[in-house]
Amino acid sequence: MLIAGNWKMFKGPAEARSFFESFEQPDGVDVIVCPPFASLAAAVESGITTYAQNVHWEPTGAYTGEISPPMLRELGVHGALVGHSERRQLFGERDEAVARRARAALEAGLGVIACVGETIEQRESGDTELVLTIQVEAIAFAAGTYENLVLAYEPVWAIGTGRTATPEQAREAHAFIKGLLDRPVLYGGSVKPENAAELLGQPGIDGALVGGASLEPDSFAAICRAAAEL
Ligand code: PEP
Repeated sequence: MLIAGNWKMFKGPAEARSFFESFEQPDGVDVIVCPPFASLAAAVESGITTYAQNVHWEPTGAYTGEISPPMLRELGVHGALVGHSERRQLFGERDEAVARRARAALEAGLGVIACVGETIEQRESGDTELVLTIQVEAIAFAAGTYENLVLAYEPVWAIGTGRTATPEQAREAHAFIKGLLDRPVLYGGSVKPENAAELLGQPGIDGALVGGASLEPDSFAAICRAAAEL
């Protein structure tokens, strides 16, 4: 089981350090944190496995606001998220860019968690499988042979809304995704200590990508423990 915490744009270096002073990582589960760029060094120093929230495909260049795979490697960062729905929805990230980011990171020796998921409109119009196919195939085409690639199924309507996919919806989507690309698949979308055990207990769910509940050491540790106990 793998539990990854996406801190989004929360916690500068001082808050990150105080998180690591109280967070106790249980045995029996792999744990990753994804802090904002400014707090990557603090996370690396704590000894926890650290992923960036995004990564560019070029090693250097005129790409203001981006960060490259070799720069992350130099900092001791272990990997990167790509294609988070907030990047796709708020910053216009397209499947082609997501795939290029994933491939460059993997080629540089970083791990990658590549996020996919449908919006509520796409689910309600019966397009969930079509959307997942397009998103997963773009990633598979660019990066499918690399070992250090994990997918995250994050239905957009469940992210930060308090609304989770039902265990059946998650199970179905995970099975569908694994049929397209045989990789571990994390579930993401309002995972909390209260619902973690039920979601993580579903077949085909290999862990969780946790946003809001990863910001408090106690709630993140409780989710990690739920995973360790399965
Ligand atoms: C996320 O940011 O990837 C996420 C799943 O957020 P939340 O757990 O807050 O829904």
